[in-house]
Amino acid sequence: MKIIFFGPPGSGKGTQAKLLAKELNILHLSTGDILREKLNDGDTLSIKLKQIMSSGNLVSDEILNQIITDKLMSEECSNGFILDGYPRTISQSNFLLSFFKSNNLNLDIIFNFKIDFKLVEERIINRSKQEQRSDDNLDVIKTRIEKYIEETYPVSEFFSEKYSQISFTIDASQEVHKIQKELMNFIKKSPKISEN
Ligand code: AMP
Repeated sequence: MKIIFFGPPGSGKGTQAKLLAKELNILHLSTGDILREKLNDGDTLSIKLKQIMSSGNLVSDEILNQIITDKLMSEECSNGFILDGYPRTISQSNFLLSFFKSNNLNLDIIFNFKIDFKLVEERIINRSKQEQRSDDNLDVIKTRIEKYIEETYPVSEFFSEKYSQISFTIDASQEVHKIQKELMNFIKKSPKISEN
């Protein structure tokens, strides 16, 4: 099963993607997690990545497209995947669609997490206390939300229109278990999946 999660930072999509990937036995492909792992390498690239990520800006499309290509071609994805945090720009979206086309891959379902940005700010501040992520403070949140609105929101709208039959909007202000139940219900109802 091939799934994409869209949603602003702090919408809880990472938590949901992790739970759902476990439930469906597919790969949780979080580009944020992959990049955060790279920060430990201590090389020139990791220093550059740290600067970009801790300011709330987006890492270059070239780096992300390469990460995604490597992952999607790997054995880890043979059962399916949840893309969480990618595509985030029009260029990434074009890259992904042509990758799908040339590899004969079809999307099964898209989830679009919607949430009030004030709630996002509160959640991120709480998370920064628990996880000590360097990109989780109020100054940086504003940049991350701005980037989401400018770059990623248009991509999510484009996908929701292009794949309207398999796109579902999720009210991300609900409790974790309620959202998880909703996702599973949508998966069961999805026209594409019941065809398979
Ligand atoms: P996330 O955990 O998805 O919020 O990602 C954390 C940070 O990693 C983002 O603020 C970006 O700096 C970077 N990042 C993750 N995914 C992407 C992407 N698809 N394109 C560009 N930058 C990304």
